[in-house]
Amino acid sequence: PLRMSDPIVENQITVCVRKRPLNTKEIKKNEIDVITIPTRERLILHEPKSKVDLTKYLENLQFRFDYVFDESTTNEMVYKFTAQPLIKTIFEGGMATCFAYGQTGSGKTHTMGGEFKGKQQNFNSGIYGLVARDVFQLLSTPNYRKMNLMVSSSFFEIYGKLVFDLLAKKKRLRVLEDGNQTVQIVGLSEVAVKNVDDVLDIIQRGTNERTSGQTSANLLSSRSHAVFQILLRKVTGRGNKLIGKFSLIDLAGNERGADTFKSNRQTRIEGADINRSLLALKECIRALGRKGVHCPFRGSKLTQILRDSFIGDKSKTCMIALISPGVASWEHSLNTLRYADRVK
Ligand code: ADP
Ligand code: MG
Repeated sequence: PLRMSDPIVENQITVCVRKRPLNTKEIKKNEIDVITIPTRERLILHEPKSKVDLTKYLENLQFRFDYVFDESTTNEMVYKFTAQPLIKTIFEGGMATCFAYGQTGSGKTHTMGGEFKGKQQNFNSGIYGLVARDVFQLLSTPNYRKMNLMVSSSFFEIYGKLVFDLLAKKKRLRVLEDGNQTVQIVGLSEVAVKNVDDVLDIIQRGTNERTSGQTSANLLSSRSHAVFQILLRKVTGRGNKLIGKFSLIDLAGNERGADTFKSNRQTRIEGADINRSLLALKECIRALGRKGVHCPFRGSKLTQILRDSFIGDKSKTCMIALISPGVASWEHSLNTLRYADRVK
């Protein structure tokens, strides 16, 4: 398995996979674990034997990524190899982005927001909180202390074509694109933060707003993308100039994309929207690392809003694809792995 001391890949795009442990429910059902991780960058998805001849497909079911995290990996470790190397990017005038992709229940929110203790979540242990910790840490070093930088945070949700401010009682916001093709979310709350505790407070507020009134059977949060941002600005006489921005995105469950064929009209529309945004996202990430590849920003609200993160040599992106290990999730895991494989 991967160790803390292993070298860090420094690419413009990093793609990795994290496998969560089987949960109590899956263990009770005697579900078998169909994922093995032979090395820190390889993963094998074992196809259920009853379905097809394993030997015939085995080759297709081996995947290689920048990192593969097994079920014993902590959030801190995932963070070290994914978002942490991108922190300096925002201090150097670039945009950093980190996506959590996967089916509902695979561990996106656990990874991004933090470990669950019952209904409570430990926001210190999530990538949002860890990024905040290290941004303030770096800001306190002599080099940056004298630079007059300020930190702020935004937290919003994209549901289909709609954008809701999670720091302003889910107020609906408009997205405008000006002549210079700058994209702006009109009236989005940007809260000044002075330390990690201020950020943890914002994460708590936004998370409460996101999940309020939701029953587990009808989780709206699995059908929307949550975008948490940390912005770095330089205080100048003529207002505050944006230096860099770190966007951390807990994506809608990718299994929802398949709902395009369901009978319920609303579910169908949602499925089509999610599908479209995840496809556009894949193309935009791929384009970031390749010259001359078209990036379909306007393909979805998500990619339109993140436009500035997909351009420029300084922009960096990482994707954490989350998978459930159980045989019942086999097909969803395959979809997730194929998607991640296409992005890299
Ligand atoms: P998602 O956001 O992808 O729908 P969650 O993050 O809510 O999934 O995770 C679903 C459940 O699995 C939660 O109860 C969470 O605590 C648990 N879980 C997810 N990843 C891990 C992990 N790596 N280790 C232990 N439990 C996990
Ligand atoms: Mg979630």
